[in-house]
Amino acid sequence: MADIIQLLPDHVANQIAAGEVVQRPASVVKELLENAIDAGATTIKLIVKDAGKTLIQVIDNGKGMSATDARLSFERHATSKIRNAEDLFQLNTKGFRGEALASIAAIAHVELKTKQEDDELGTCIEIEGSEVKSQDVVVTPKGTSLAVKNLFFNIPARRNFLKSNAVELRHVIDEFHRVALAHPSITFSMFHNGSETFNLPESNYRQRIVNIFGTKTNEKLVPVEEATEVLTISGFVGKPEFAKKSRNEQFFFVNNRFIKSAYLNHAINSAFEGLLKDGAQPSYFLNLTVNPQTIDINIHPTKTEIKFDDEHTLYAILRSAVKHSLGQFNIAPVLDFER
Ligand code: ADP
Ligand code: MG
Repeated sequence: MADIIQLLPDHVANQIAAGEVVQRPASVVKELLENAIDAGATTIKLIVKDAGKTLIQVIDNGKGMSATDARLSFERHATSKIRNAEDLFQLNTKGFRGEALASIAAIAHVELKTKQEDDELGTCIEIEGSEVKSQDVVVTPKGTSLAVKNLFFNIPARRNFLKSNAVELRHVIDEFHRVALAHPSITFSMFHNGSETFNLPESNYRQRIVNIFGTKTNEKLVPVEEATEVLTISGFVGKPEFAKKSRNEQFFFVNNRFIKSAYLNHAINSAFEGLLKDGAQPSYFLNLTVNPQTIDINIHPTKTEIKFDDEHTLYAILRSAVKHSLGQFNIAPVLDFER
């Protein structure tokens, strides 16, 4: 019998990977913002058109790339962030899979402009569906600009499945908020269809929350601080009387990375037990810092799920820290007493 197995060409492999990494415009926003942060940017600008369907551009003032790296950055598994398997257990960067740019370039029209501080001139590369169209030397400021146009141009099924602009924009803004909340010391701005939708100057955490969610948020924030050997918690919960039905003010960050965790969410709910009206959801903005060796982020390409070594301990510490804060601020301690 003849042999029938073949290695897939790179552009096909990239397109398959893209299916996992890039679900919608917001996924591109997340990847590009994270790359800007990993590059040490202090100012990051996000520009979108038509909710990201026609344009997503991120401009940063980070360290930029050499001409060779600029070209390599679009190869799959090409990364400057890890060197070996051990590095996976001490991650200090958002990225490490070296897949995002390769995936995005497989399913969109991409233009990269980048320059390192000491270089006179920068590099401009255009790629369409994994195919390099041009590479030139350009005048460009220090840092990187990555523009992603016509997302899913070569995958009509995906393009057709995108939701309305209103829905896609909501996802884009959610991603923008998550990244901006995790990094209050970075200046962020966002423009949609030519107008500025967010302008977030460098600030502290409380101020960043208020800048995003409105001045009224300030009075409802109760600080939560806890430091143990396994876990440091810092951030805020909302006073119970301000709780609304919606869950759009619930944020966990683990080592500056937004994550979803039904289990930890449960810990918060249980700390609020007896304090909330029916159906009301607690607000929380909590940063957990743990030893990177005690977590595994590599369980899903989008990295919003994390595996903790000792979930039960985290649960208990979190619950008691939140309870303590609510008690300290004299929030209906009687209720606990009655139980
Ligand atoms: P990863 O972030 O997992 O390394 P990416 O595909 O997102 O993979 O990026 C590949 C590489 O390109 C990065 O490791 C980094 O060296 C470089 N890079 C990407 N975006 C930027 C940027 N905004 N500034 C500087 N370097 C960047
Ligand atoms: Mg990346």
